[in-house]
Amino acid sequence: MPQTRLYILPMAHIENDLAWNVAAARVGSVDNPHPPAEWVSVPCFAYLIEHPSAGRVLLDVGPHPDDKERLPADVRRYFPWMGGPGDTLEARLAGLGLKPADIDLVIVSHMHWDHCGGLYLFANEAAGKQIMVGRRDFEYGLLSTHKEAGQPFGGGGYFKENFEIPGLSFEPIDPEMGDYSLAPGLQLIQLGGHTPQVLGLMLHLEHTGTVILPSDAIYMSRNFGPPPVAPGIVYDSLGFFQSVQKVRQMQKATNAWIIYPHDPEQERQLKLAPAYYD
Ligand SMILES: [Zn+2]
Repeated sequence: MPQTRLYILPMAHIENDLAWNVAAARVGSVDNPHPPAEWVSVPCFAYLIEHPSAGRVLLDVGPHPDDKERLPADVRRYFPWMGGPGDTLEARLAGLGLKPADIDLVIVSHMHWDHCGGLYLFANEAAGKQIMVGRRDFEYGLLSTHKEAGQPFGGGGYFKENFEIPGLSFEPIDPEMGDYSLAPGLQLIQLGGHTPQVLGLMLHLEHTGTVILPSDAIYMSRNFGPPPVAPGIVYDSLGFFQSVQKVRQMQKATNAWIIYPHDPEQERQLKLAPAYYD
C-alpha cells in the first residue's frame, strides 16, 4: 500500500428527532408555544483506512443487516435505521473488492448498535481476535444489556445480541492509556461524554492533511460550534464539553479537518466510497 487512504463507507441513515442530536434544537415561545419536532435523516458511517504499515484498519462496522427488524420496538419507533442489504459493511467492502478476511484491525468507537453491528463478519477472522474497544464503554454496555431479566433494551444504544457473538475476542483499551500512536500518522484518540469512553482516530493524509474522526463524541458540526451545544442524549454532559475542547485544541494544532459521524449537512460535501481521500 503506497500511501494512506481514507474511505468513508456509507451505512445508510437513521431517522430521528433532531432534539436527540442537538439539545433544545427547537424550543417553544409565547408566540409559538408548540413548534413541531424537527424530524431528520442522519447518515451513519464506517471508515476504512489503508495504511502502508498498519494495513487495512476499520473504525466502526455499521449496523447489523437485520437491525431494521430485530432492534427493539422503541428503538425502531424513535431511531429507525433506513438501510437495506446494500448498506451493510459486507456490501461496502465488496464494493471495494474486499472481504472481511482482508481487514487487519477492527476498532469499535463504542458499542452502540449503529457502530458495532457488523462485528459478526469477523467471527472467524484474524481481525476478530483482537477487536479494539474502550474498556469503560464495553463494560457499561455489557452491564446495561445483561443486568435484569425482562428489562427492555438495556438503555442507551446498546443491544444485547452485539455482545454475544461467538468467536470474537476483544482487546480493551483503558482510558488511562490516553492517546497513542497505532502507526506513523495514525493515532488513537480517547474521548468521552457520549458514552463512558469513545475511541476516535486522528490520521495524516498526504494531500488532504490531518483528519479527525471523533465518532459520536461529536455528532455534528452544530454540536462542535463554537459555541459547543450538547446533544439531547448524553452519558456525561461535562465529558462532552471536555471532548469538544480536546478536539478543538487538536484541530488548532494540526489544522485538521473533522469528519462528523452523523451530520446530514456535512454528508452532502463528503466523497463516499468507492471514492477516497489520500
Ligand atoms: Zn452513532
